[in-house]
Order: sequence, then C-alpha cells, then structure tokens
Amino acid sequence: MSHKAGFVSLIGKPNAGKSTLMNALVGEKMSIITPKAQTTRHRIIGIVNDENHQIVFSDTPGIIKPKYTLQESMMNFVEDSLVDADLILFVTDIHERYDEQDVLEKLRKASSPVAVLINKVDLSNEEESKNKKFKFWEETLNPDAVFPMSALLGFNVQTILEYIKEKLPEHPPYYDKEELTDRTMRFFVSEIIREKIFMLYDKEIPYSTEVGVVSYKEEPNITRISAEIYVERDSQKNIIIGKGGEMIKKVGTYARKDIEEFIGNKVFLELYVKVVPDWRTKKNILKRFGYDN
Ligand code: GDP
Ligand code: MG
Repeated sequence: MSHKAGFVSLIGKPNAGKSTLMNALVGEKMSIITPKAQTTRHRIIGIVNDENHQIVFSDTPGIIKPKYTLQESMMNFVEDSLVDADLILFVTDIHERYDEQDVLEKLRKASSPVAVLINKVDLSNEEESKNKKFKFWEETLNPDAVFPMSALLGFNVQTILEYIKEKLPEHPPYYDKEELTDRTMRFFVSEIIREKIFMLYDKEIPYSTEVGVVSYKEEPNITRISAEIYVERDSQKNIIIGKGGEMIKKVGTYARKDIEEFIGNKVFLELYVKVVPDWRTKKNILKRFGYDN
C-alpha cells in the first residue's frame, strides 16, 4: 500500500489566523491564539495522520520586519519552515490591512507550490469583495490553488485538508504515526501561560514576557508544575503581579484550567516572576529560552 507524507508550512502576516487553522486541521489546541500580533514565537509542528497519509504542519510566527533579536529568531523559524516545505499555505485575512509585500517576496523565492487561503470570510457578506480578493491573489501569485475559508468556523477546512492530501508526495512517515507534535508537555504548558499573559496585559508587557517551566511532577491524582515568568524590568514585574497579587492570580487560574484540560489531570500551578534585563536582545539568553536558530 502506498503512503504519502510531507511538510506543509503555514505562513502569513500576524493575526491572519494561521494558528487557528493549524488547530482546526490537527483537531487539537497545539498553538496558542490571541487577538494580539506576534502571539506565536516558534515554529510549532502539528501532525495529522491517517492510514495512508502523514501531514506535518508547521505553524509559524507572523511575518514582520524584525526590530530586535527575538524577532530575528522568529523570522528564522519562518525561513526554516519554508526550506522544508513540500507545500506552502499562505494565510491571508479577507480584510488584510498590513502591507504583504515582504510575504510576497518570500513566496516568490520559495520553490514549493503555494496555496492562498483567504481567511475570515465569515466577516464579509459581500460576494463582490470576496471575488475581487480571489482574482487579486490569482493574478498576483499565480498560486496552485485559492480557497476562501473560515478557520474559526471550520468553513472549507476539510476541503483544504483533502487538497493537501492530494498534493503530498509519496513518502514513508517522518514521525511515529501516533504522534501529534515534536514538542514536550513543558513547552505547551509554558505556551498556555504565555497565552494568558497576552490576554490579560496590554502594551509592551506581552512582548517583554517569556515563560519557562522549571519543574513538572506527575503524581497519580495531580500534576505539580512550577513556572517562571521572565520580564525585562522591575516595573514590569510589578505590573505582572498586580495590586496584592491580583493579576498574577488571574494568570494562574486561567492557565491552570487550560492545562488541566490539556493534560487531563488536576494541576497545582505555582508562578514566580523574575527580571532578566533585556532578554529579548541577548543571544545567549534567547538560546536558553529555545530561540536557538
Ligand atoms: P495568527 O497570528 O495568524 O496565528 O492568528 P491567530 O490564529 O492567532 O488568530 C488571530 C485572531 O483572528 C484571533 O482572535 C482569532 O480568533 C481570529 N480568527 C482566526 N481565524 C478567524 C476566522 O476565520 N474568522 C474570524 N472572524 N476570526 C478569526
Ligand atoms: Mg499564531
């Protein structure tokens, strides 16, 4: 029996809905999602398996012009995923307001076929503007395919999955057929905590914050987790903690609920805040935080 397998990269501007699509395709919450730009900082792999197919999706950070070392590393993750890709899914918002020139440059350089996914069509009820977008992308990129889609509502997600399976090359599986990802539980836990920080704080705080799990102990009826929240300055530490610890308590409560759901066990979660001055611009520290490219 023949088997198809390949790497499929999701790229586009921040907030286009790449992570929402990845989760819809994989059927699990692999990637964190918030309304804020640059929520995704890593290349996150999500694997879809059936008897004759293995699709290895890479969700990537939204493409921006990097302003500091962390963002450079984020853009390197995008480049890596393009090099490996057998197929590129360019996710674009039907109401995209960003200039997508830098994405186009990357797509034109790439040697793999590109499908354009016009996302968030649930937000537009004008057929005319949908058709216009469709035509625009056909003419601009001459892609292999264009699909209107709603990653949030699942519109066309199955169709796209079938299209991808069709396009995959003949290849044995790259990963164990039981696996959904190459990331550890600790990574997902730190991402869930980071998601809550993106949700609950404004301005520079989410962008100045990183999370690391320092201990993870599984007991029969409870999983005990300690995590550190790193910020760049003392003033940010005070904001994270909030008056009387009120804010960090919220982070902990929301995160704990999601972690419990994710791992299917009761969780005891401890959070500590630490100042690591200017971590976003320091190569050696970034390396320690997993931005090692
Ligand atoms: P990413 O930055 O490309 O990974 O985008 P996310 O997946 O994090 O989504 C950014 C925001 O767009 C979130 O608030 C999502 O809920 C929202 N979103 C994603 N897909 C859709 C969609 O199909 N329709 C609508 N209305 N919102 C969406
Ligand atoms: Mg994302």
